[in-house]
Amino acid sequence: MTIKSLTPQFVESFPQKLEPGELYLAMEFATAAHLCACGCGYKVITPFSPTDWQMSFDGETVSLKPSIGNWSFKCRSHYWVRSGRIEWAGDMSQAAINAGRKRDAEAKARRQSPRPVEDLVRQPVPPSQQPTEATSLITKIKAWLGL
Ligand SMILES: [Zn+2]
Repeated sequence: MTIKSLTPQFVESFPQKLEPGELYLAMEFATAAHLCACGCGYKVITPFSPTDWQMSFDGETVSLKPSIGNWSFKCRSHYWVRSGRIEWAGDMSQAAINAGRKRDAEAKARRQSPRPVEDLVRQPVPPSQQPTEATSLITKIKAWLGL
């Protein structure tokens, strides 16, 4: 079942089982969690930081920016949370996703970089998808060999 809106729930820690349609905010940890808006049941964790997400709370509803792109989930859903409402964004090509990831990595590398533009997409990266020691070594060797 598709989720149309997210109701903020300020919590000290995330409950074991998240309810669809709730946006759990653990401000002490500067992190929010919700179930993917497509209804697939995946837990989406969105940390708040200058290079992750920014949240704004207007007293009733929460907005998150930039958008949430769950490319690592089967559903590949991509949406905004604006004033508590889910607004679906169009699908992105793999090239655009890679470009976004590269920009993210660069932004994280130099933290004083300008704030991300509003349409820049972030996605929660599960540890299994992060580059391993081995791949970065291969990259280094390739660079060394001029490949
Ligand atoms: Zn989903």
